[in-house]
Amino acid sequence: MALRKIVEQGDECLTKVCRPVTEFNSRLHTLLDDMTETLVDSGGVGLAAPQVGVLRRVVVVMDEDEQIIELVNPEIIATDGEQTGLEGCLSVPGKYGIVTRPYVVRVRAQDRDGNFFEIEDEELTARCFCHELDHLDGHLYIERAEKMLSPEELEEYIRQMEEMEEGED
Ligand code: ZN
Repeated sequence: MALRKIVEQGDECLTKVCRPVTEFNSRLHTLLDDMTETLVDSGGVGLAAPQVGVLRRVVVVMDEDEQIIELVNPEIIATDGEQTGLEGCLSVPGKYGIVTRPYVVRVRAQDRDGNFFEIEDEELTARCFCHELDHLDGHLYIERAEKMLSPEELEEYIRQMEEMEEGED
């Protein structure tokens, strides 16, 4: 496995529609392994192949149990509800915005060997599915953000979230 370089906003890889994977070979497996290593190293929760300069429909997501989900040729097949919250991107470092996404997202995808499966998740992982799949069509969350936060606003937002969590205990 090897770390790959994450490209940043302004790189044309992030604006392209990625092509489907047709060969489930060792090259794909290496890409998936490298993407997982790069994701874990970066401390993020999701990474799409175009973010490491590969224009193929491949995504890795870390769910809330810290399990890695590999999605090849993923498609959103159902959504439910709505959530509005903070979103950032490894390709747009240091910035955060408020984005509304579905609360529950069901995805159909292929695994590294080409077998089809379906997976459903909610909250942060559902948000992540939407965010990463957008990358495969050349879209960044900043196009969808209803508001980008200044560093002061981000601090205030995090403080409010922490207060809410304390209130729940
Ligand atoms: Zn991103």
